[in-house]
Amino acid sequence: MIILTYHNVDAAPAGVGQPWLYVSPEAFAEQMRLLDKLGFRGVSVTEGLRLLHSGQADRSVIITFDDGYVDNLIHAAPALARHGFSATCYVVSGSVGSYNAWDADALGAKKPLMDRAQLGAWLDHGMEIGSHSRSHCRLDLLPPAAAREEISVSRDQLRSITGREIEHFCYPYGGFNETTATLAREAGYKSAVTTMPGRARSANDLHTLPRIAPRGDESNWIFALQSVVPGGWFLNHSMGRVRRRLASLAS
Ligand SMILES: [Zn+2]
Repeated sequence: MIILTYHNVDAAPAGVGQPWLYVSPEAFAEQMRLLDKLGFRGVSVTEGLRLLHSGQADRSVIITFDDGYVDNLIHAAPALARHGFSATCYVVSGSVGSYNAWDADALGAKKPLMDRAQLGAWLDHGMEIGSHSRSHCRLDLLPPAAAREEISVSRDQLRSITGREIEHFCYPYGGFNETTATLAREAGYKSAVTTMPGRARSANDLHTLPRIAPRGDESNWIFALQSVVPGGWFLNHSMGRVRRRLASLAS
C-alpha cells in the first residue's frame, strides 16, 4: 500500500529552499481528482492500516502531511473532503500555532503551523492527527532518554490539545533507528512512518513504514505512476537514476 507524504500545499515562494516540498493547491486538487477517477480512495493511517491488514488495501492510498502547516487546512482539506477522502497530519506538539522554527532559516521561509482551533477544524473535516515529536529534532541522534521524552510527551500534549487518542507517529527528518522504533512502540503508538521510499506491505514492521513523497516540481503523470501502478514508485525511482546517469554522461 502506498503512503503518500506531503508538506506544504501552497505555491512555493520565489527563492525558497527545497521548493519541491510545496505542491500547489491546483496540483494537489488534480492529484486527488486523479486518484478518485482511477477508483482509489485516500484514507487516514488508521483506516489504511486496517485495510492493509484485512487484505482490502488494493484500491486505497494513505495520505499523510508532515509538520502541520495551516495551508493543509486551507488548501488540502477541502480538496480531500470533495472526494470523501481522509488523511493524517503529523503535528509538532511544541509548535502548535507557531511556525517551522527548526528549518525556517535554512529554507528562507517562516511557515505558519495550525493552532489549537485550526487543528480542531482539521479533525472536523474527518481528518486524523498524529505526532511528529515535541520539537522536531533528529531522534536517532539524541540520547535514548531524551528521544523517549520527545516521543511520549508529544503524544500526551497532542491528546490534551485535541481531546483525541494519538495513535501514529512520524520521525522528524526521517531520522530513526532500532532504538527510536522501540521507543515509539513502547510509547503506545500503533505505527510510525519514515522517509524510506517504498510500498508498505502487511508484513512490514509497523514502526518503520516506508512512504512516497510526491514532488511539487514533477508532473501528475509521475504522481499517478507512483501512487496507483504496482511497482510504479520503483519504476520511477529507476527512471530517475537513468535520467541522472544520462545527464552526467552528457555533461
Ligand atoms: Zn517534519
